[in-house]
Amino acid sequence: WSRRAAGNGYRCFTAGMNAALVRRINIEAALHEAVANAEFRVCYQPIVRLSDNRPAGGEALVRWDSASLGRVRPDEFIEAAENNGTIVDIGRTVLQRATAACARWRAEIDPALRISVNVSPQQFLVPDFVATVTRALAAAGLPASALEIEVTETVLLHESATVNQTLTKLSNLGVRLALDDFGTGYACLSYLYDHPFHTLKIDKTFVQDSMTNATARKLVQASLRMAQELGLDVVAEGVETEEQRAFLRDLGCDYGQGFLFARPLPATDFPGDAGAGAVAAVDTDTG
Ligand code: C2E
Ligand code: MG
Ligand code: MG
Ligand code: MG
Repeated sequence: WSRRAAGNGYRCFTAGMNAALVRRINIEAALHEAVANAEFRVCYQPIVRLSDNRPAGGEALVRWDSASLGRVRPDEFIEAAENNGTIVDIGRTVLQRATAACARWRAEIDPALRISVNVSPQQFLVPDFVATVTRALAAAGLPASALEIEVTETVLLHESATVNQTLTKLSNLGVRLALDDFGTGYACLSYLYDHPFHTLKIDKTFVQDSMTNATARKLVQASLRMAQELGLDVVAEGVETEEQRAFLRDLGCDYGQGFLFARPLPATDFPGDAGAGAVAAVDTDTG
């Protein structure tokens, strides 16, 4: 009896493993064609000033509607794209579209709006990355200070002369740098010391757990104090409730981003005013 149970368990386990593996292989294989067929879209999520609830900018978030696999979430395909190198093409497209979208918002909505773009370590290692950024800014007619590049701590794990020089070159151009998902990686405070960051993005896990967990609350408070001492802007990610917004605003957090304000939206739907609830009901993208 126990052997049979174990046998069943084993079969289920391998079946699950195979399904996940097959999905991963399919995703990696489909990415090359997706690049050739331009299957990617970019959505934009407002980053809102907590003092007046107005957007200060937006974060570009890539979306993939695959001809063969249907909708694939970034959490599923970004890593695959990093592994097979397609992230370099995908990332260039996102950068070009995002800078162009931001230039339109600045003309039509608010000339101070900024655009945040996620960049993977593999993109930094391509020698012409800085030139790609410069060309995208020039093509869009956007000043470097309107662009913020978001990196996670994994970029800094690739600690190399190339990464360091690239971050410094970008900073010297006037491009802003944000440390994304702060607190979830191999957080090492020396990163903030060694690299010219302008912004800290506190990961949504801590923001959300703060409501029920005293340790998460203290970590958010300590991160905010540290950022303030260092003169860094802070964006709290994953703000979903009024309670979370009030907590963050009372602590002096500058900016929030999350479903309370708006979901990621098509560029043409970018709001001039994201007072809570104003656009939260718009659900063109499930996140
Ligand atoms: P991220 O850079 O930390 O982006 C924030 C993620 O949180 C987005 O997920 C966004 O939709 C989601 N989010 C925003 N507000 C809320 C909220 O209130 N609650 C919850 N539960 N989630 C919220 P998304 O778009 O699925 O992207 C996931 C990750 O994929 C991003 O995390 C980023 O690391 C990566 N990614 C997305 N677009 C790109 C890209 O163009 N290039 C690269 N290299 N990575 C990208
Ligand atoms: Mg990000
Ligand atoms: Mg993040
Ligand atoms: Mg993330």
